[in-house]
Amino acid sequence: MTTAYIPASLPVRIDEDLCIANKGCTACVDSCPLDVLAIDMIKGKAYMKFDECWYCMPCEKDCPTGAVTVDIPYLLR
Ligand code: SF4
Ligand code: SF4
Repeated sequence: MTTAYIPASLPVRIDEDLCIANKGCTACVDSCPLDVLAIDMIKGKAYMKFDECWYCMPCEKDCPTGAVTVDIPYLLR
């Protein structure tokens, strides 16, 4: 039996109902200096590919539909 690793929470959440990557948007991917976001070509949605984040926010600011939410850790606020 294998147990899949499911992280409790990722720093960045993408609301798949709002994401328009399937219409060609790559704004969040393009704006991330760490390159941790990517587009899932099968789903046509953005997702967090690597669990790493500087909490610099351009991904959230640049998303035209407000699909990106960066969960800034309490201690950094
Ligand atoms: S907050 Fe910054 S580092 Fe984190 S995913 Fe967004 S653009 Fe990338
Ligand atoms: S910027 Fe917003 S709409 Fe565009 S790919 Fe990223 S999450 Fe989706």
